[in-house]
Amino acid sequence: MVHLDDMLAYNEKFVAGKKYIPYETNSRPNKEMVILTCMESRLIELLLRALNLKNGDVKMLKNAGAMIRKPYDTIMKSILVAIYELGAKEVVVIGHYDCGMSQTIPSELKEKMIVNGIKQETIQTIERSGIDFEEEFSGFESVEDSVKQSVSIIRHHPLLPEYVKVHGLVIDPKTGKVDVITRE
Ligand SMILES: [Zn+2]
Repeated sequence: MVHLDDMLAYNEKFVAGKKYIPYETNSRPNKEMVILTCMESRLIELLLRALNLKNGDVKMLKNAGAMIRKPYDTIMKSILVAIYELGAKEVVVIGHYDCGMSQTIPSELKEKMIVNGIKQETIQTIERSGIDFEEEFSGFESVEDSVKQSVSIIRHHPLLPEYVKVHGLVIDPKTGKVDVITRE
């Protein structure tokens, strides 16, 4: 089912009714913080409520698994922009228990692509061009270790200014309870 039409109809009413007024703020994060978390849908609202975050408080980055594995991927670049252009002084990586990326197996993902109509030759062409499926789509066994790995890449980044603090948390997607894995 395509939900876009419902969303567009709602949006017209939202804007006409000036429901945006309670959310007005500027683009600099009030708490001078950037958060990287998972795209997990259970956390859309829960993470904000559980940590008392309001619209405008933080720069929020998301990907599958809250993972950084390469020092110049788009997430790391966004963190650097948040620091240098938007005044962020703290970075918080927030993984979560029961994360889909702890079950993602690249070979199975490849099978699912083929079942869904992607041609084997297309995948082979992509692999020959230098994209390593195992590396690109691999998840993690332990969310704590994954958070530590992401935090370590940020902390040791050659372009990270010394004043920036980098922390790692894991959140329970049911209760919102966070466990501190590493902090500065
Ligand atoms: Zn997740």
